[in-house]
Order: sequence, then structure tokens, then C-alpha cells
Amino acid sequence: KWGLLRNKLLKAIGRNNYTTWIEPLEFKELQDGVAVFSVPTNFMGNYVSQNFADLILYELNTAGETVQRLDFRVAANSPARPKPAVDTPPVAKPEPVAAPSEDPAQDTLESLQAAPLDSRFTFDSFVVGKPNELAHAAARRVSEGGPVTFNPLVLYGGVGLGKTHLMHAIAWELKTKHPGLNVLYLSAEQFMYRFVQALRERRMMDFKHLFRSVDVLMVDDVQFIAGKDSTQEEFFHTFNALVDQNKQIIISADRAPGEIKDLEDRVKSRLQCGLVVDLHPTDYELRLGILQNKVQQYSSSYPDLAIADGVLEFLAHRISTNVRVLEGALTRLFAFASLVGREIDMELTQDCLADVLRASERKITVEEIQRKVSEYYNIRLSDIIGPKRLRSYARPRQVAMYLCKQLTSRSLPEIGRRFGGRDHTTVMHGVKRIEELKLTDGQIAEDVEMLRRSLEA
Ligand code: ADP
Ligand code: MG
Repeated sequence: KWGLLRNKLLKAIGRNNYTTWIEPLEFKELQDGVAVFSVPTNFMGNYVSQNFADLILYELNTAGETVQRLDFRVAANSPARPKPAVDTPPVAKPEPVAAPSEDPAQDTLESLQAAPLDSRFTFDSFVVGKPNELAHAAARRVSEGGPVTFNPLVLYGGVGLGKTHLMHAIAWELKTKHPGLNVLYLSAEQFMYRFVQALRERRMMDFKHLFRSVDVLMVDDVQFIAGKDSTQEEFFHTFNALVDQNKQIIISADRAPGEIKDLEDRVKSRLQCGLVVDLHPTDYELRLGILQNKVQQYSSSYPDLAIADGVLEFLAHRISTNVRVLEGALTRLFAFASLVGREIDMELTQDCLADVLRASERKITVEEIQRKVSEYYNIRLSDIIGPKRLRSYARPRQVAMYLCKQLTSRSLPEIGRRFGGRDHTTVMHGVKRIEELKLTDGQIAEDVEMLRRSLEA
């Protein structure tokens, strides 16, 4: 896929940048969500990672790969020592985090004990809004490193909502505040990998010792071990041993523990023992906040760039809940605008993000509206579509018509047809009636707003 992506990058950053920075990159492998590239020099690796990493990450992820991080390594025949691109601590320099080893022979239990932390994922860069405020508060509390209050802390939520970001932020905070603390962050996949490796090398004692001597254990994407029986078993024992010693455990998952298929019941119930908080899908305000925050971060690297009024609002409105997609879109916009030396206005935005905007467009259907409205008012679907004139059916029907007019591109006659073959004037009357009532009847206004929100979610 790298070949295809290179084309996209070429378009996004232009021929010059492309030839200088992207062409010399050689894609090596994709493992555990880390895409590894070899670069001729350290300088190049750093430059690319500072300037194009977001863009590359974004393109990889929109092409269907799941990539969390890029790693640029200096080609083996070069004398310079490779260095992981993003693994630099944000503030004070805490103990070095084990970097991924370049030499497979060094992949021992010791050298691989922690996954690298992304220096951008701190509390400072985390934007708090309604959908994530609880998760954020819980993460903050745990990151103080005081007496263990809830154990484990489980953060769950959909892709790209900030679970990994929060976990890294906790780890950074703990490492800064308590440098002596042994904090171990890794993905469930890495946990399994290490477990299997220990089995193979007959080093289970080392493995157990390693995992049981940490002060804080963080396992990201725990759903990964579902259905992997021996790994689950080992996880279960590790978990219990740490809780018995009153050590903090922090877990993330893509859904509530009770809903993870093929996860053993005893593991589920352990996960539910502490505090379970979810990250809700982002709402408009949070998306806008994240965009504004990003723009501020960018403004140091692109001092001349201007954004027209309304562009961020437009993006926050139009792009889905996944923050990774949102950030990627902005990165591409910046790269594009700085290349062509133009202000980021609506026209440039539409041009540059046509594919993203198209992909995130969710079409609401008349049927969906009718179903939601009937559920909401607790009446049958046939009563909404059917001929009954009773007020308890007529009003919901008008609400449904109004929403169809607002949220779909259907014409009045088309809407009428889907409401049991009614005339377009009936639909028009219904729409008008609701428009009036919205101003005078608080209940109706609220109903419409609730329905709209649930349809647009
Ligand atoms: P998850 O692990 O839930 O799939 P991540 O933590 O990897 O999601 O987040 C995806 C991207 O979105 C990251 O670049 C992260 O920094 C960013 N992000 C998510 N939520 C926020 C937020 N509230 N504030 C700032 N950035 C966020
Ligand atoms: Mg994650």
C-alpha cells in the first residue's frame, strides 16, 4: 500500500518536499501498530517525523491500516545510531523508556518491557469536553499516584476517542511526579507477545517476576486477548497478584468489559471491580475545541498560515467523531495550504478534503426518521405512515415530516409519498405547523431537538 500512499503524499505536499523527504523513506514493516521506515540519516528521520508524521499516519489509517505510531530508523549500513522518532519525554526527563529494539536478537524480556510513550500524548494536549470529562477526571486522579482508590481503572470507548492518549498522559505524569515508580505501559497484544515468548524460551519465571514487580500496570486495548485462552489466564493471574499487592492497574478497551465477546467471565468480573468509565463519541463542541487546540500547536511551525472564519466550525460539524480523522484532515489542510501559499478558506477546504468529507457524510433516510420518531413517541410505525387522524398520531407524523425536510434532501412530494401517499401540501402544512410550534411549545421544541440529535449521532 505504501506505493499508493506515496502518490497521495506527493499530491499533498508537492514535488519538492516529496523528493527531498518522502522518496528516500523505505517502508520496512508494520508491527503492533507501529509502522517502521528506514531513513538514510537521523536528521531526515527527525525532520520527517516532525513535519509529516501526522500526515503519513493519517493517510495510512484512512487507507485501512491501523497505525498508532511511526518509527524512523537509520538504515543499518549507516554509522549513526537509530532513535525512535517520537519517544522524547515532554517535561523533565524521566527514566528512559525502553525503545523498540532494532536487533531482533535483543528482543529479550528485559529490553522489551515497556512500550514507548508518545511525547504528544500528555494531559496538557488533551482537550476536555462533556463526552470525556469523566474519563479525564478519573485519569487525572490515578495519575496523582496517591493511595490506590479504584482498582482497576478501566477506560473504554470507540476508536480514536483518546484512550491511548489518556493512558500515556497518566504514564508521563506518574513518571514525572514519582520518578522511582515502576510504570509499565503496553498493549494487550504486546502482553501476549511477551507471554508467548517467555513460554517459548522457558522463561516464565522471569515473565512473572517482571510483571509482578511493577507499581503501575497499564494494558491498552485489552479486548485483544479475548478468545486467547492461555494469555487470558496469565493476564488474570498477573492482575490478581498486582491487586493483592495494592498496585494500580489501568486498562483500556474498545467496549464495556461485559460486552467483550470471548473474554472469560472471571476476567470480566475482575475488570468491573474498580471504576469503569467510558469515553463518549465526541460532540461538536469537543471537536471544535480539539481543532482550535491543534491550530495553536501548528501555528509555531506554520507562522504565516491563516484560517478563514468558519472553516474550523465547518470541519467540527462535518467530520465524524473519530479524533484521529479530524486531526488528519487538519494536518492535510495545513500541508496543502502551506504548499500553495494560500489562506485556508472554505474553497480550499472543500477541494483538499473532498474524499474525507464524502466519506464522513452520513445520509439520514426517511425510514430511519420514521422509525426513530415512532420509538420516541412509543407508537407503531404504521400509525405514523397510516391514515389515522388522531392527534396522538398526527403530531408525531408532523414531527417526522419536519425532520425529513430538515435532514434529508427529499422533496415535499417524495416525502408525502413515503408517508402513505400523502399530498405535498399536507407535508408542507405539517412542516409549517412544527416550525410554529417549536417557537411556542417547549415540549415540541425539545422533542424535535432530541430526535435530531439522536438521528445525527
Ligand atoms: P484511541 O486509543 O481511543 O483509539 P487515541 O488516544 O489514539 O484514541 O486518540 C487518537 C488521536 O486523537 C490522537 O492523536 C489523540 O491525541 C487525539 N485525541 C483524542 N482525543 C483527544 C482530546 N480530547 N484532545 C486532544 N487530542 C485528542
Ligand atoms: Mg488506542
